[in-house]
Amino acid sequence: MMDRTPDNTDRVAERARMVEEQIVRRGVKDPRVLSAMRKVPRHLFVPPSHRSYAYADEPLPIGQGQTISQPYIVAFMTEQLRLTGDERVLEIGTGSGYQTAVLAELCDSVFTIEIIAQLGENARKTLDNLGYRNIVYRIGDGYAGWEEKAPFDAIMVTAAPPEIPQPLVRQLAEGGRMIIPVGTISQELILLEKKNGQIKKTSVLPVRFVPMKGKAETDG
Ligand code: SAH
Repeated sequence: MMDRTPDNTDRVAERARMVEEQIVRRGVKDPRVLSAMRKVPRHLFVPPSHRSYAYADEPLPIGQGQTISQPYIVAFMTEQLRLTGDERVLEIGTGSGYQTAVLAELCDSVFTIEIIAQLGENARKTLDNLGYRNIVYRIGDGYAGWEEKAPFDAIMVTAAPPEIPQPLVRQLAEGGRMIIPVGTISQELILLEKKNGQIKKTSVLPVRFVPMKGKAETDG
C-alpha cells in the first residue's frame, strides 16, 4: 500500500480523533495519559509500509514478528500505572519505542529492555531524534529485570510470559504497580500492586500479546 502521508506533517488531527474515538470512548480518563496520547507521533514508530494505518484502531507489525500495540491498549495499560510525574519506570519489550515515549512523557525516567537488538537500536534512534532524554536503554532478556537500577515505582511488560517473572515482582518498589499480560493460549492483563509487603493481583482485561522470549519460554 502506498503511503501518501509525508513524515513532515504532524498528523495532530488524526491523533485527536484517535484519542476521542478509540480511547476516551472506551473509558480511559487520566488527563495526563490522554494528553501524552495526543502528543506522541505514533506514525514515526510504525514502518513506512504501514504508516498510513498508524492511527487505526489496531496493532501493526514492526518487523521481526513483533507488533506495536493498539492505541487503546497502550493508553489503558499506561493509565493502570497511575503515573504522577516523579516515578522511575521499568519497561520490558521496547519494540518500536512507542509505548516508551508515552511513558517518558509521564514519569521521571524510563528504563527499557528489548531482547531483539535491531528493534532496540531502531527504537533508540527514533526516540533520540524526537528529543527524549529521560530513557535508559538495554538490549537483553527482560525476564531478570534490571537489578542495578531497582527498585522501580512502576513496571510495564508488553510481551506475555506464561507466569509473572519473580525477579520483576522483587524489583517493584513498596507501593508500586506492575501491569503485565500473562498466559499462553488465552491471556489476561494482570495489575500487580505491592502494599505493606503484600502482593495483590487483579485481572483487568483479556488481551493478546506476542509471547515473551528468552527465559520465559521455559516457564509454566
Ligand atoms: N511496547 C512495544 C510493543 C512491542 S511487542 C511497542 O510499543 O512497540 C513486544 C516486544 O517485546 C517485542 O519487541 C519483543 O522483541 C520484546 N520482547 C519479547 N520478549 C522479551 C524479553 N524477554 N525481554 C525483552 N524484550 C522482549
